[in-house]
Amino acid sequence: MSASFEPAHGAAIVTRFAPSPTGFLHIGGARTALFNWLFARHHGGKFLLRIEDTDRARSTEPAIAAILDGMRWLGLDWDGDEVYQFARAARHAEVAHAMLESGHAYRCWMSQDEIAAQREEAQAAKKPYRIRSPWRNRTDGPLDQPHVVRIRAERDGATTVRDLVQGEVTVQNAELDDMILLRSDGTPTYMLAVVVDDHDMGVTHVIRGDDHLNNAFRQLTIIRAMGWPEPTYAHIPLIHGADGAKLSKRHGALGVEAYRDELGVLPEALFNHLLRLGWGHGDAEIINRAQAIEWFTLDGVGKSPSRFDLKKLDSLNGHYIRAADDARLAELSAPFLPFESTLEQRELLQRSMRALKPRAANLLEIADGAAFLFRTRPLEMDADAQALLGGDAQSLLGQLHAALDAVADWNTEALETAVRQVAESAGVKLGAVAQPLRAALTGRRTSPGIFDVLVLLGREESLGRIADQVTASPGE
Ligand code: GLU
Repeated sequence: MSASFEPAHGAAIVTRFAPSPTGFLHIGGARTALFNWLFARHHGGKFLLRIEDTDRARSTEPAIAAILDGMRWLGLDWDGDEVYQFARAARHAEVAHAMLESGHAYRCWMSQDEIAAQREEAQAAKKPYRIRSPWRNRTDGPLDQPHVVRIRAERDGATTVRDLVQGEVTVQNAELDDMILLRSDGTPTYMLAVVVDDHDMGVTHVIRGDDHLNNAFRQLTIIRAMGWPEPTYAHIPLIHGADGAKLSKRHGALGVEAYRDELGVLPEALFNHLLRLGWGHGDAEIINRAQAIEWFTLDGVGKSPSRFDLKKLDSLNGHYIRAADDARLAELSAPFLPFESTLEQRELLQRSMRALKPRAANLLEIADGAAFLFRTRPLEMDADAQALLGGDAQSLLGQLHAALDAVADWNTEALETAVRQVAESAGVKLGAVAQPLRAALTGRRTSPGIFDVLVLLGREESLGRIADQVTASPGE
């Protein structure tokens, strides 16, 4: 794409995110919000939020709350208060009336039957249907009878959108029809509302999904009729699933809050993942907020659909978990424990984080890995752990108990020396000792490093758990 469309640095850039609150903030919407936010922040401009709540039947308060919450969680702060589109209906109507006065719009009394008849005629002639209102050139209709207000669209020539992502896209004006601006009940249409709001909010760049590209031509007709400055458009390709099909729930595409509340994803990981959906900077995969702001331009947005891949999100999340502060991770993973945790338990969780976080791809795995800390004696063994406690294990555990009991300083090095000595004197590999020990201490076959486990549990609890398994006959 030609770089000449990029604004000069420091120019007043205003972008907006304009979600319809008919559902939660989904991946596609969050990505659109992110790109608008980054573009504004990169250029030192403004990022505005407009809630397009004109569909009264489908817009809901919980959806609005989820959108605002999801944006805050991702750190996509908007400038000023959010704008509610429905509240601006009178202003939208005012513009339609201005267009009536300037001759760019007209009142139309066509009935549904007349429109249906025209459509059938076009179908019979195998022509695409474009409304042809007899009222386009008449002004003698009965004002007290129900009617709509239509734009008097240009029929000759063509309209070109110079799009920062799609390039120049042209449609013949004959393809665009005299769309409705005000319905017969006086309410504005979506197409009118978007244009008026973008203008009044001073939006300079409209960055949105390419499913809106067709709307851009119609919106430009209104903008030109009003003689308003034209925004620069950037229609970004949609997101597909890892298999190349249009993104759906089947691909693990959820509302943003589900990544937080159900999958235990950190916001910086989802931020990074969303950024890489359709935008790139060389080979960089791990990109933090500051870098993203510095690097983001629309030149980096490709024309082909991006692919959403849960595995990639997992690996990014693992990276950000390893980089995250332990106290924060403890706070965030505590809700994933299967019980209400106490302050003391959360402190233990925090102390354990160094041992827990190297392996975890999400907060659920941290909570799961931490579960052994909070079990009560005698531990319930799962089947895998039970299997590790048969045979030689009993005698090894007995020796371990004696050796560990003799350790003066309960620290990793001393514990490792003691366990290694048991293995040596029994003539077995370290693993042959570590596995039953792990089972006895955690009730499972996998856990953080065994010396970390001993340290975190402490002397008394560790020795107690080992003793429980020495005395318990296997299978019980
Ligand atoms: N409200 C529209 C949507 O949620 C977006 C309109 C726009 O960005 O122009 O798809």
